[in-house]
Amino acid sequence: MLWPTLTALVVVAAILLQVWWSGKVRQLNAEAERALKKVRDEQAQLSLQQQRQQEALFDSMAEGLLLLDEAGRVELANRAFHSLFGVTTDIRSRTIIEALRLHELSELLDDLGKQKQVVGRELKVSRPIELWLQVNGSALFDGAGHRYGSVLVFHDLTRLKQLERTRQEFVANVSHELRTPLSLIKGYVETLLEGAKNDPDVATKFLQTIDRNAERLRLLIEDLLTISEMESGRIKLDLKPVSLRGLTHKVLTDFKAPAIAKNIQLVDSMPDVTVSADLARLEQVFCNLVDNSIKYGRNEGTVTISARSNGTQVEVAIQDDGPGIPPESLERVFERFYRVDKARSREQGGTGVGLSIVKHIVQSHGGRAWAKSELGHGATFYFTLPQSPNSIRVADATENIALTLQH
Ligand code: ADP
Repeated sequence: MLWPTLTALVVVAAILLQVWWSGKVRQLNAEAERALKKVRDEQAQLSLQQQRQQEALFDSMAEGLLLLDEAGRVELANRAFHSLFGVTTDIRSRTIIEALRLHELSELLDDLGKQKQVVGRELKVSRPIELWLQVNGSALFDGAGHRYGSVLVFHDLTRLKQLERTRQEFVANVSHELRTPLSLIKGYVETLLEGAKNDPDVATKFLQTIDRNAERLRLLIEDLLTISEMESGRIKLDLKPVSLRGLTHKVLTDFKAPAIAKNIQLVDSMPDVTVSADLARLEQVFCNLVDNSIKYGRNEGTVTISARSNGTQVEVAIQDDGPGIPPESLERVFERFYRVDKARSREQGGTGVGLSIVKHIVQSHGGRAWAKSELGHGATFYFTLPQSPNSIRVADATENIALTLQH
């Protein structure tokens, strides 16, 4: 009787132990799972944080960055890349051809696999706008030498290329402008030496032509020096209160002779207004504009100088009633060496840079210069300047003054 009882007790105890143990194991498992989940969550959090930091770092780069996987599919494209190529959608997991349709880039990627160094290439892209890019690419290899991706970095060279083009055009234009008067001078000197000097009338005519061309060269060189000085940012403006009435009077007196030669009436409608400006530079602006309106104005015409103010800014207008400027040239006349009528400008001794100097000077004073014209009905050149605080403005000194600026 004792054995069966004992056996039953042992069995019950074993069952209870089994139940207790399985409960314990389950509890331990649950605890281990919880701990594992915590570690996993922390790791996920950490890697998300790292990814965010990496993205923020890549997005703060001025250069476009593209990370590609082993199969050449985009893994990451930074913000600069999106804006360079005008990409507005998510291009991850697409190939370069699918995302950009740029065969040159896909060729570069193929080349990367063949060498372990950085490969650089200049690329011209026409979409979304014309861009010049320097692309540097490198294949990524793991410790075992297996290529697991590539990285491409894009530098925008467009501005640099534009500057280079402008410089080349400038050099070509300057050479052309210098060559014309120089070859004329040389030609006339040679003809004089070959015998023309023995005829006093012919010699005088030739010497006058030489003189005119030498003067053109002098003016051109002076204008080029002014431009280079202004573009280098070396010019220091000596800002002082300048009375526009006084300056207009002086400039119009200086231009009396050429105006009389063309029977042009110079009208001084300048109000009593004072601006803050560098007197010598401002005089150059007035001279260039008045000179042009006499040069390109019509015989027996009228040139008027006036101004109006809004209390803080003065707008000066120099108006003629000559043939005017075609609409497509109104902005371009301020470009260096741009002329509406090349022959006419040269015949008048123009250097083609007068208006670009005007624009530069006005802008360096914080103002703006522009032109308005109706073909056949004259041209008006405007520019603005800051009004001098100690200006004593007689509002109704002339009819041309207005209290508000419309521009
Ligand atoms: P330029 O030495 O040829 O006069 P500018 O830079 O002063 O050079 O002027 C550029 C061009 O603008 C001139 O060649 C001329 O074609 C045009 N232009 C300037 N002022 C006038 C004007 N008042 N009327 C008509 N055309 C003008």
